[in-house]
Amino acid sequence: MDHDHQNCSDLLGNLSSYIDGELSEEMCAEFQKHIAGCENCRVVFDTTTRTIYLYQHNPADETLPAAVRERLFSKLHLDDLIKHE
Ligand SMILES: [Zn+2]
Repeated sequence: MDHDHQNCSDLLGNLSSYIDGELSEEMCAEFQKHIAGCENCRVVFDTTTRTIYLYQHNPADETLPAAVRERLFSKLHLDDLIKHE
């Protein structure tokens, strides 16, 4: 199976939309399919969702403030996390 790392950048660029439930069903399916087959993206995805989950389950602060989330996403440096072979 071809693995085009350009797909990883595109996919991870949609990560916040995916988490927000803003992607179409078709896009979600693509997303999940890629995550299932790409360890690289799975690590990024797991890390991000875990961080967001922790924020969301902090009783002192039930919603992740937009500013925090923005910082989280910008701190990810998605390009750096993608291994260029
Ligand atoms: Zn990938």
